[in-house]
Amino acid sequence: MARKPFICGNWKMNTTVREGATLAVDVARLCARHRSVEVAAAPPFTHLEAVGKRLEDGPVQLAAQNVHFEAKGAFTGEVSAPMLKSLGVKHVIVGHSERRQFFGETDETVNRRVQAILGEGLSAIACVGETLDEREAGTTLEVVERQVRGALAGVGTDQAGAITIAYEPVWAIGTGRTATPEQAQDVHAAIRGLLAEIWDRPTAEDCRIQYGGSMKPENAAELLSKPDVDGGLIGGAALDAESFAAIVAAAAESVA
Ligand code: PEP
Repeated sequence: MARKPFICGNWKMNTTVREGATLAVDVARLCARHRSVEVAAAPPFTHLEAVGKRLEDGPVQLAAQNVHFEAKGAFTGEVSAPMLKSLGVKHVIVGHSERRQFFGETDETVNRRVQAILGEGLSAIACVGETLDEREAGTTLEVVERQVRGALAGVGTDQAGAITIAYEPVWAIGTGRTATPEQAQDVHAAIRGLLAEIWDRPTAEDCRIQYGGSMKPENAAELLSKPDVDGGLIGGAALDAESFAAIVAAAAESVA
């Protein structure tokens, strides 16, 4: 089965609600003709309702940037999977390197979040990726394997359809420095091999692996032309509707 490309915008902690609503309208309009691509946008929690309304019944799905692993209770400041679902969220990003770096996210807490997401019938975008030191030390695949195995602990083949892996080399996020298409392909192929070990080969072949790290209109086509690069998790370029739509167009082109 050919994998449908999946492009998700990660707005991070940017835009006011009003700006986000405008961005959502523009993204939905500009992406409408690329039906061969699955497209999502992950605004801040505070924007989910307003952005969700603008995206309703359109081609762009609503995503969230994080989730707590408990469903409810005394967890001040946190947001749960049932809450996200009640707002129409379909996908949740987990284990982003900024969460790992600044908010104490570990492979174990990523896995608990993945379980909470799957338990609500939502889909998870699990981020993995090495730091520059790890790449230079030659431990990229070791690090990525640990993170993938950690995120997917206890996730069976019957749940694999709700999983997307986002390979995001930390040194490429927000730096303007992109992995070469060959670097991305090497790691994506290794991740797919690992998924075949964790699940089985057909299930691994169906699982989408996004690339993230300074993907932009200028480099998207080349990255997306690689056989195991099935889409992108887009930070900076997702804040500009035209740039984001150009990446979606490149993804559509990659399967035309
Ligand atoms: C990200 O934060 O997931 C990301 C890939 O950011 P950027 O595109 O800005 O590098």
